[in-house]
Amino acid sequence: MKADNPYLAPVPTKDGQVVGYVHSLETFGAVDGPGIRFVAFMQGCNMRCKFCHNPDTWKTRVGLKMTSDELLEKALPYRAFWGEDGGITLSGGEILLQPEFALELFKKCKAQGISTCLDTCGQPFTRREPWFSLFNELLEVTDILLVDIKHIDSDEHKRLTGYPNENILDLCEYLSELGKPVWIRHVLIPGLTDNDKYLQQLGEYIKTLKNVEKVEVLPYHTMGVHKYKEMGIRYRLEGVEPPTAERVENAEKLLHVADYQGYLTWHPGINTKQQKL
Ligand code: SF4
Repeated sequence: MKADNPYLAPVPTKDGQVVGYVHSLETFGAVDGPGIRFVAFMQGCNMRCKFCHNPDTWKTRVGLKMTSDELLEKALPYRAFWGEDGGITLSGGEILLQPEFALELFKKCKAQGISTCLDTCGQPFTRREPWFSLFNELLEVTDILLVDIKHIDSDEHKRLTGYPNENILDLCEYLSELGKPVWIRHVLIPGLTDNDKYLQQLGEYIKTLKNVEKVEVLPYHTMGVHKYKEMGIRYRLEGVEPPTAERVENAEKLLHVADYQGYLTWHPGINTKQQKL
């Protein structure tokens, strides 16, 4: 149905501003980009990752409706805690399903000297217009991106998330060409992504990118499982346990995590290419 398709439905506005659909806000995010950050988790995601601990963010066009001014009003009281590297992160759900809102908010952030970070899984990325131009505009006002690569093998990616990964890898390569700083994140799930062959392949792939400031292995956890029960959705990873410390260490080795130390010296406003010259 046309109205249900976020690509076709018109972008809602209020007081001449784009309306964003927000799932929740976090005032002191310490793991969502550099420094301490105010994080807006946006509503809506097309993927259906088997391990997703936020199925309540999946639905589009529901949740708290906010304009960029309203979101800034919520965030600014915490500005004193952000320091030089912290700022505002837009996460999800999938933020790139609401690029118009992100652009408007980040333009205002930049006008006020606030650091901006996008936390994305990359699924909406396309070089097709008009999306691509909008995304490029958004990149102009984005300091850094956190990009999740769920699986390096496209078929496995599809089994895990419902979508192939070609356009997500294309996003990684595009950001590398631009020298846009990224942190790459990978969820380690026993029996699904904890596989030496694929981890090695992913490690080699990340090595080809020139803009990676940090690589993180995120151990699978079961903290969101209760939400599936509440929502009446079957949880497909029933019985899967978090990985052991040894397997996490093994994944960190295969992804060469220790080689990516750029995040220790990176500051907002620096492109990776400039920094490395
Ligand atoms: S991309 Fe993120 S929000 Fe979407 S289903 Fe996967 S884990 Fe959940």
